[in-house]
Amino acid sequence: QGTIVVQVRAAVIAEEYILLLADDRTEFTRTEEVRNDFVANVSHELKTPVGAISLLAEALESSADDPEAVKRFAKRMHKESTRLAALVQDIIELSRLQGANVAQQGRPVDINTVVSEAVDRSQLPAESKNIQLVVGGHANAMVYGDQDLLVTALRNLIDNAIRYSPENTKVGIGIRSKDGLVAVSVTDQGEGLSPEDQERVFERFYRVDAARSRQTGGTGLGLSIVKHVISNHGGEVTLWSQLGKGSTFTIRLPEMEGQDDADGAGAGKA
Ligand code: ADP
Repeated sequence: QGTIVVQVRAAVIAEEYILLLADDRTEFTRTEEVRNDFVANVSHELKTPVGAISLLAEALESSADDPEAVKRFAKRMHKESTRLAALVQDIIELSRLQGANVAQQGRPVDINTVVSEAVDRSQLPAESKNIQLVVGGHANAMVYGDQDLLVTALRNLIDNAIRYSPENTKVGIGIRSKDGLVAVSVTDQGEGLSPEDQERVFERFYRVDAARSRQTGGTGLGLSIVKHVISNHGGEVTLWSQLGKGSTFTIRLPEMEGQDDADGAGAGKA
């Protein structure tokens, strides 16, 4: 009887082991697929500006005696190379995020500093469309993480709010802290997103209107970067939106413990 028990247990262990391997295998295949998809997408995205620059260079060469044409082609080359640079920058950012270990390399970060830096850096694009950036609320809250990454994430949200809103509107940036979470929201009076698009906008290279995104300097990676940064910080990003009315993107991050005193006296930087 003892032998049977041993055999059964051995069979169970073997089965578990095989399942474990199979599981690993699935995970491995899935990761590979995601990687291959990403490489395919990146190659496709890079080909567009690189191809355009190459064609424009040819056109430039053959129009040396037409100063107007030279100016026109040079301007377009500049635009395409700016797009290429933005794309490369975002790809580097995404791969940096994959290797980042915020839990180990982080520091206490003041959320108000993150907001003011992101707002400062988005001021120029906002002014170019006469969009007012309005900051409301305050939180005596520290979060644990990488300040630069958090500024990048918030900036992506503010830049999108500007990019997908008409001129002469407002973009609100709200900060509040509740139940151990700090929330920063970015609200625009822009075109909004349909429920179907809301489900997909955080995917890499997903754009509602690719031509529009390209034209306004988008790379299709902005929200994917936001999602990665925030989940690396143990937080989440949510979206509320209505077509024709506008959108609110909200980042929620866990507050560092011992920071929720009313006057913020304990919120010193380490
Ligand atoms: P992109 O570089 O194209 O802006 P993102 O990943 O940042 O890429 O955003 C993906 C898509 O989501 C955009 O192309 C746009 O269609 C949509 N989107 C993002 N933010 C907003 C917003 N605030 N209002 C409306 N649409 C938005």
